[in-house]
Amino acid sequence: MSQTNKALQWALIGASDIARTRMIQAINAQPDSRVAAVFSASPERAKAYAAENGIPKAYDALGKLLDDPAIDVVYISTTNELHRDQAIAAAAAGKHILCEKPLALSLGDARAMLQAAQAAGVVFGTNHHLRCAVTHRTLRRLVQEGAIGQPLAARVFHAVYLPPRLQGWRLTKPQAGGGVILDITVHDADTLRFVLGVEAEDVAARSARQGLAQGDTEDAVMGVIHFEGGILAQFHDAFTIKHAPTGFEVHGTEGSLIAVDVMTQDPRGRIVLRRNGQETEVKLDPPEDLYAFAVHHFNQAVRTGSQPFATGEDGLRSLAVGLAALESSRSGQRTPVRYS
Ligand code: NDP
Repeated sequence: MSQTNKALQWALIGASDIARTRMIQAINAQPDSRVAAVFSASPERAKAYAAENGIPKAYDALGKLLDDPAIDVVYISTTNELHRDQAIAAAAAGKHILCEKPLALSLGDARAMLQAAQAAGVVFGTNHHLRCAVTHRTLRRLVQEGAIGQPLAARVFHAVYLPPRLQGWRLTKPQAGGGVILDITVHDADTLRFVLGVEAEDVAARSARQGLAQGDTEDAVMGVIHFEGGILAQFHDAFTIKHAPTGFEVHGTEGSLIAVDVMTQDPRGRIVLRRNGQETEVKLDPPEDLYAFAVHHFNQAVRTGSQPFATGEDGLRSLAVGLAALESSRSGQRTPVRYS
C-alpha cells in the first residue's frame, strides 16, 4: 500500500477546529496525500463538516471508517480522553496514526497506544508543530553547533489568549484533558527537549484560575523544569494573556539566543544571537507552514520507514513532563518526571 505512488488517503478522526483550520490544508497541500474521510460521533456534524471542507466521505461510526480499506492514515484530533481507544483501534485496523497532543491523559495510556502501533507495524507520530518551525530548527542547530557554549537556562513565554471559539472543553473539562498544562505546557516540553537535546528530570509548577477556567481546570501556569546537566527552564503558559509576545530563549556560557514571536501556529518570528557584547540577527531559511512540514515528514515515514518529525515517544515524553507539572501544581511539591 504505502510503497506505491498513489496518494496516501488520510481520514480525520474528529471533526475538530484544528483539522479545519490547519490540518486539512496541510494534508491536501502535499503532492502525495489527500483527506478522504472524516469521522464525527454526530451524523449531522460528520455530513456538514465533510461538505464544508470538501471531504469525500463522512462516517459516524469509527468502526466503519477503520474498515474502509482505502484509508491509509488517520489523524486523531478529538478531545484528549478519546485518543487512546481511537489510536488502539486504528492500529489494530492497520492504519498509520498521527495523533494530537497530549497523546492521552496518563503515561500508561500513551505507552499502550505506542505499543499497539508497534505491534501492528504502523507509523505513529505526534502533532507537535512547534519543532517543525524554521526558528526552532535553527535554535536546535545553533545549540548543537556550540554557538552559545554550554546551555545553562531557557525561558519559554507561551502565555496567550484562548480564542473565544475555543473556549469550551479546555476550560471546563479536566476529564477531557482540559487545562493549560496539558494544552500548552506539553508543547513547551517538546520544544525544549528538541532544542536542548536533553530530557527533563523534575518540575515545580504553580497554576491559577484567572477568570476563564472553571472548577478544577487551570488557565495559567508558571514553573521550572530541571533538565539533565543542570539546565533550568522557566515557562509561563496561559489562556488569559492578551497583549504579550511569545518567546523562547536559551542562555549559555558563551552567548544567548533570543527568539521572539515563535510559540505560534504560523511560520513567523525572529532570532537574535547575543555574544561578546554584540547582538546579531540570525538568518533563517524561508519559513514553511509548520503543519505541512509535519505532514510531509509523516508521509515520508509511511513511504520510506523514516521517522515522523515528532515520534510517538516524543509525545509520550512531553506528556510525562505535563503530568509532572500538573501533579506539582496540585501538590505544591517539586515532582520527578516519570517516563515509565
Ligand atoms: P475541537 O473542540 O474543535 O474538537 C474536538 C471535538 O469536539 C471534535 O472531535 C468534535 O467531536 C467536538 N466538537 C467540535 N466542535 C463541535 C461543535 N460545534 N458541536 C459539537 N461538538 C463539537 O478541538 P480542537 O481542534 O481545539 O482540539 C482537538 C485536539 O487537537 C486536541 O487534542 C488538542 O489538544 C489538539 N490541538 C492541537 C493543536 C496543535 O497545534 N498541535 C492546536 C489545537 C488543538 P466529533 O468529532 O465527534 O464531532
